[in-house]
Amino acid sequence: MKLAARVSLVTPSLTLEITAKAKALKAKGIDICSFTAGEPDFDTPEHIKAAAKKALDEGKTKYGPAAGEPKLREAIANKLRTENGLDYQAANIIVTNGGKHSLFNLMLALLDPGDEVIIPAPYWLSYPEMVKLAGGHPVIVQTDASSGYKITPKQLRQAVTPRSRLLVFNSPSNPTGVVYSPAEIQALAEVVVEKDLLVVSDEIYEKILYGKAQHVSIGSLGPEIFARTIISHGFAKGYSMTGWRIGYLAGAKELIQAVTTIQGHSTSNVCTFAQYGAIAALEGSQDCVESMRQAFAQRRDAMLERLNAIGGLTCARPDGAFYVFIDISKTGLTSLEFCDRLLETQQVAAIPGIAFGADDHIRLSYATDMESINKGMERLDRFVRSLF
Ligand code: GLU
Repeated sequence: MKLAARVSLVTPSLTLEITAKAKALKAKGIDICSFTAGEPDFDTPEHIKAAAKKALDEGKTKYGPAAGEPKLREAIANKLRTENGLDYQAANIIVTNGGKHSLFNLMLALLDPGDEVIIPAPYWLSYPEMVKLAGGHPVIVQTDASSGYKITPKQLRQAVTPRSRLLVFNSPSNPTGVVYSPAEIQALAEVVVEKDLLVVSDEIYEKILYGKAQHVSIGSLGPEIFARTIISHGFAKGYSMTGWRIGYLAGAKELIQAVTTIQGHSTSNVCTFAQYGAIAALEGSQDCVESMRQAFAQRRDAMLERLNAIGGLTCARPDGAFYVFIDISKTGLTSLEFCDRLLETQQVAAIPGIAFGADDHIRLSYATDMESINKGMERLDRFVRSLF
């Protein structure tokens, strides 16, 4: 069958593909240790599920406004105003089918053919693909361990051309776990304003921070950067609601209206009763978020301790999200070879760094139970020893 040319521009999502493969092997009874998708192993907190069940029982089963339930848009605007210092009203918010959908819709609403989007690497693998699907051109800016995997203001300035439209900024970062300091964010914001760019700040890991790391939204740093900021966020990671598919986008009203028009012809509203669960997530106690964060913190420490004892691998200490990004360059293997052989010989599933623009790395998610972490690290150790 002849497919549209745009299909050949993109590759399937490796995070989803390898996660599905690991799950299928597990279902066959194979003892797999999976560190694949960033998906908390916790169930969604009870009060959130109860609110969605109640909404279902009350008949919240019909079409709703394409931009989302008014009460949820209000609750999101309220969260962004009070927690993040972002002066949004409900009209600045659209509820989407997850963070991925937010970003995809944004690219469709913003980009004309050939428009450039600056993406610091290592990046979450779907960013460049979404840009391409929308007809834009991803401009990758490479960072590495020497700059703490952070883009510098100088690099950003150098990447700007007359076609640049948008910077994709993600802190805490997937896949590196890096959290930019307020001063670093301020310095990048100055370049965004100076070069008259837009910035989309993907804040999906906002609540998953460790030690002294602090989350500051780039849009809160002054009126000029606020006017150029779009926030992409969602409920999946912080509230363990991955399968619910609820995210949101916040930005200028005209942009949100444009995204609403696109959504009105594509997905319409997000599942109506599920949105009531999201309202409960925002309005209820935040203790569940904190207790999951504490569990991630323990798992991070356990995983790092084991990893640091494995000769031949190096990895920086992540300050946020739930990933470790491991430098495998001393093994001489590509990230695909490393992950394939690790899965084949030790039944440990990891994501090759090539998916994130760093072929000399692999990513492990520690949003999984401690037993799998202990067992998996033993197997990884055995595997790496076999390479030297
Ligand atoms: N964002 C998560 C990850 O990077 C989920 C999978 C995906 O959508 O890529 O693992």
